[in-house]
Amino acid sequence: MKDKITKDTLESWLDNVRPYAHDGKVADYIPALSQQNPDDLSAAIYYLDDDCIHAGEVETCFTLQSISKVIALALALMDNGEEYVFNRVGMEPTGDPFHSIYRLEQYRPSKPLNPMINAGALAVSNMIHGDNPAEKVGRLLSFIHEMTDDHSIGVNEEVAASEFQSAYLNRSLLYYLKQHDVINGSVEETLDVYTKQCSIDVNVKQLSRIGALFANEGRDIKSGRRIISKHFARICKTFMVTCGMYDASGAFAIKIGVPAKSGVSGGVMASLNGFGGIAVYGPALDEKGNSVVGTKLLEILSNRYDLSIF
Ligand code: GLU
Repeated sequence: MKDKITKDTLESWLDNVRPYAHDGKVADYIPALSQQNPDDLSAAIYYLDDDCIHAGEVETCFTLQSISKVIALALALMDNGEEYVFNRVGMEPTGDPFHSIYRLEQYRPSKPLNPMINAGALAVSNMIHGDNPAEKVGRLLSFIHEMTDDHSIGVNEEVAASEFQSAYLNRSLLYYLKQHDVINGSVEETLDVYTKQCSIDVNVKQLSRIGALFANEGRDIKSGRRIISKHFARICKTFMVTCGMYDASGAFAIKIGVPAKSGVSGGVMASLNGFGGIAVYGPALDEKGNSVVGTKLLEILSNRYDLSIF
């Protein structure tokens, strides 16, 4: 195991990166997200020995947004198996913005290129088992409760409603997928599941534990109980490397080299085998949609502690 980072060190690094928040902008295409405070900042490192170091406004909750795509993928794989999932969603990075539509037209049979872009993530949400949206979201929440051992985690209904109302592009992606038989059932119900999945509220301590579980090859950190198979955990981490940081994933892999997934709320979850989980929250985003301070902090951590998997 690599040297541990102390709480004092983490706090001082947060102070160092704090000013960078002014280089970014809080997402506003989902109206409720524009209410976030750009100066909020928190980070947590969850080690594999169950030690969690945290700093900043650690109790502040934020919505998972695209980070949920990793968790939903794990559940969809467990529900349906690998063959079913990858018959409907590909494995290749796109280098396109997360909500891009145009590559859907370029490949036959039509299927989204990967589960980390919105088109692929919408297809994955559609695959989660359950008779109705409430049951599907309930199963996803139970899965997260199991991963975090925290049953207080729930959906931020205000953010979910705000996104549902304004999700014109995601609706159009879903109608396209429906036309090409990538999804089953109702577009509006799938959008309901997806927007609620993206609106699950967490803090950095909870999120770092999820990152640690993936780093622990799918086993719970405290009990050692297997929650995700090693193989599925590995699939999820591989997508985090190839397309977890939007169309900045290549630069992130070179500069930081840690499997990570970000969301437009400003959260980032990283997962490093043999080390643990890292979560950072700072809602000001760069032009690609990644947290400015989150990326900076991960860069410092990776360089100082030589964390790159490469
Ligand atoms: N709910 C967001 C959307 O679909 C997630 C985007 C993201 O975090 O990348 O637009």
